Parts: sequence; C-alpha cells; structure tokens
Amino acid sequence: MEIKQVESPNFRSGRNGKKIIAIVDHITAGAFPGCLNWLVNPGSQASAHYLVNRAGEIYQLVQDEDTAWHAGIVAKPSWTLYDGSNPNRYTLGIEHEGFDGTLSEAQYQATLWLHRQLMARWGIPADRDHIIGHYRIDSVNRPNCPGPNFPWERLLADLKQFPYPSVTIIAGGTSLPGVIIDGYSQAPVAEFCRALGKTVSWDAVTNTVLVQDYLGPFYAYTSYVKIAVGSQLIPATIINGRSYAPVRGLALALGRQISWNDETRTVTVF
Ligand SMILES: [Zn+2]
Repeated sequence: MEIKQVESPNFRSGRNGKKIIAIVDHITAGAFPGCLNWLVNPGSQASAHYLVNRAGEIYQLVQDEDTAWHAGIVAKPSWTLYDGSNPNRYTLGIEHEGFDGTLSEAQYQATLWLHRQLMARWGIPADRDHIIGHYRIDSVNRPNCPGPNFPWERLLADLKQFPYPSVTIIAGGTSLPGVIIDGYSQAPVAEFCRALGKTVSWDAVTNTVLVQDYLGPFYAYTSYVKIAVGSQLIPATIINGRSYAPVRGLALALGRQISWNDETRTVTVF
C-alpha cells in the first residue's frame, strides 16, 4: 500500500514530550475530496494524521511525530487512558471518508493495513483502550464519530489475530507475503526456502520443518518457535500455523544477501 503525502497546516510541532499511546478513529461526515480540502484548509483549524477514502487511498496530512488537531476537545469522556491533558498530544488520528461509519471493502483493507503499520511503529496494543473512537473522548459533540456502523468488532478481531504489518519479500523471483515483527522483516520459512530452490520436508513426529542446505541441516522447531541453522539460532514466530523468521537471518544462513527498497517496502533476496 502507498501513503500519499498532502501536508496540512493544522498541527503543532512535536508532542510536548508525550508518547503516542492510542489511535483515534474518525468519520469525515463529508465526501472526498471535499473532506481532504477541509482538513488542509487553514481556516478549518482541523486535521488528522491520516485520511482513508472510500477508494482505499491513504493520505498523510500530519507527521506522526507532530500533534494533529483531531480530538482536542474533551467532553464527558469514557476513555480510560485519558490523562486530563490534551489527547491530541498522545494519540494518532485517522479520518475515514463516510457518514455513519460504513466503510467500503477497499477502505476497510486500507485502514486495517494502516492500523497495523502504526501499531508496529509505535507499540500500540490491539484492544479497545488503545484503538478508540472519537466519541470516547467527546461523547457530547461527537457521539457519532466514527458512527454506529463503524466495524469495531471486525477491526479488533483482525488486529488481534494478525497485528503485524505486511512487507513484500522477493526471493528467487517469487513474491512472498512477509510481515514486520519488532522492526524486522520476517519471511514465511517454508515458502522462502522453496523459492530459493531448497527442499523442504515436514516431520510430523518431531513437529519440525527440515530444510537441506549446503551450509548444513536447517531446522525450524515450530513447537519451540526457533530456527536453527547449524549451531546458529534464529528467533521465529508462528502466525496462523505458519513459521516466520527474520528474512536477513534466513538469507544469510542460505548464503544469500538482501536489499531493502523503502519506497515499495520490498525486501529482495539476491
Ligand atoms: Zn472525529
């Protein structure tokens, strides 16, 4: 996914020393591109860090490190982590084009991806205290932001089940779906090794993925979530039954090198 940059003047530099702890979801109550124009109009005195439209496009209006003006007014809040100071200082705001919280499927997938990116970048947990609606901060003036049809249950379930942002890994000319965990790109182990022409076998008795390699036997102990290449141990993670391991460690263990393209968010193995 791509994030388009359109700068809004409606922000304050920095965060007054506060740490980002939560994402606040909003609805624009207006159609695109009018809602984008509003959020970048100096007269509106309003903004958000991101805007996701119904076409599934993501716009960044304010940098994460700066304070956007999206939830600064507090009235009868129900948010347990509100600390008495301006919530703009310690939250990220995502606006969604729409009226009652109903999102298009493209818009849902885009905001899901964006939530994963931001959660990984800022260490935000997937729960209802850290992923909140604007109405939790201002229940008086914004009871319908982001609206009754906003897909809270689906979003939280998807984020809890799979909180990791995606990254594309190109190995042996094959494009593989990788994930970013703790800042490191991780490849699905079996697919990665197959793409590089390695024979992969599964030992159901010992619950082990075996990869034969010229550098020595290669084991993925899925029950212990460890990958062993010879005597070298690589930490791994099991997500939905698949073992993922850091792509750099895997590539080096198999005698390969990697390059990272920040623009396309792609790791290429060569
Ligand atoms: Zn709002």
